[in-house]
Amino acid sequence: MANFDAENGAGGAILVVGGGIAGVSCAIEAAEAGCPVILVEKSAYLGGHVAGFHRYFPKLCPPPCGLEIDFKRVQNNPRVAVYTLAELESISGTPGHYEATIRIAPRHVTGACTLCGACAQVCPVEIPDPFNCGMSRTKAIRLAHRMAFPAQYFIERGACASGCDLCMHACRYKAIDLEQKETKKVLHVASAVFATGWAPYDAAKIDNLGFGKYPNVITNVMLERMVSVDGPTGGKILRPSDGAAPRSIAFVQCAGSRDQNHLPYCSGVCCTASLKQATYLRDRYPEAKISLFYIDLRTPGRLEDFAARTIAANGVELIKGKVGKVVEQADSRDLEVTAEDVLDGKKMTRLYDLVVLAVGMVPQTGSLPAGMSLDDFGFAASSGPGLYAAGCVKRPAEVAVSIRDATGMALKAMQNVASRANHG
Ligand SMILES: Cc1cc2nc3c(=O)[nH]c(=O)nc-3n(C[C@H](O)[C@H](O)[C@H](O)COP(=O)(O)OP(=O)(O)OC[C@H]3O[C@@H](n4cnc5c(N)ncnc54)[C@H](O)[C@@H]3O)c2cc1C
Repeated sequence: MANFDAENGAGGAILVVGGGIAGVSCAIEAAEAGCPVILVEKSAYLGGHVAGFHRYFPKLCPPPCGLEIDFKRVQNNPRVAVYTLAELESISGTPGHYEATIRIAPRHVTGACTLCGACAQVCPVEIPDPFNCGMSRTKAIRLAHRMAFPAQYFIERGACASGCDLCMHACRYKAIDLEQKETKKVLHVASAVFATGWAPYDAAKIDNLGFGKYPNVITNVMLERMVSVDGPTGGKILRPSDGAAPRSIAFVQCAGSRDQNHLPYCSGVCCTASLKQATYLRDRYPEAKISLFYIDLRTPGRLEDFAARTIAANGVELIKGKVGKVVEQADSRDLEVTAEDVLDGKKMTRLYDLVVLAVGMVPQTGSLPAGMSLDDFGFAASSGPGLYAAGCVKRPAEVAVSIRDATGMALKAMQNVASRANHG
């Protein structure tokens, strides 16, 4: 990682905000082409949502495969400076000449950390684990997840018990510094790329689908964590209400998407993501009934082939119809799903053990500079000169498309560095 002075004299650098797959890709492509890059990520680790997935469609390989290669490229490149637990406070200037201020929260754990875990063992504070969507509990001092990069503990200081310093005494390597303070850095950069990604739509806002009311209604993002070996159930897909193996599962597509009351747009990846998740279920439960309720099955381009293969190989029942309501049965806690079967022209009602809501993507635009416009759906619209957006903050997309977009934006950002060098 970086051996250049990110604060002073690196005016020909590119600032990348957001360290998900798009931001990391943008950073390494620019750095490997010779440009200094400062990568700023608000969480304690790089990788964004992809770091929490069990498998990638279409190849169904585990995400750490690709991410680990990217992290090595970051680590081995002296032209990339990474700041985690960091956010952009302000940016001003003109293409080729921007001044950006970033705010870095204290990690409270230094590079002397060996990941021995003695600190977490004595930590008395347990909180819902955000990495597992709150389905399990974690400590105030922790490694964000098993494969976290950088592999270094951090303390969520706001969660600590007042005056507690047990972790500091438990650390044999003196890696804990409870006095660390927030710092700020002023950076001089030629251009900036915003790759701040997406958040899942808040399923609790979709009253008729029962999320938050009925424990056996979960979201697609929760299912990704549940099926991961380091997830809340150690990789088992279980009904939250009673820990039983589900015998029937319904995927509800467009949960809030393509709906004027929620998200008016299509998130593009949810149909393929649900089919991928059907393979997780089939793998664990060969006899389970798997139904997928959809408005239109949207699996564009090469994903068409993935969809056809997956449906046939996993016996996924497709029901063309928007789900109108999900209601829990009082005794069994099973879920009654009501939809209109469009092809039959009839209203239908079915019972399922588990319902998975395919919620869409909401762009994370809070840190975009004032000059960057949004499109009608709230995604980052404008690109350049000097300030660019990349990945899912710009439009919903699969990983391969996000990477391609980020690579293109690395090139656009580098053009400002080049013109700065030519014109001063
Ligand atoms: C359920 C589901 C399953 C999916 N499965 C697949 C799949 O199998 N295969 C596939 O190809 N695609 C899949 N996708 C799509 C995939 O998630 C996206 O393509 C990918 O996450 C896009 O990466 P990104 O970097 O644009 O965004 P993100 O992954 O959201 O990363 C954005 C990063 O920016 C950081 N950030 C946000 N705001 C700030 C800020 N203000 N300052 C600093 N940092 C900030 C975030 O912490 C995060 O690390 C799936 C999507 C869903 C919903």
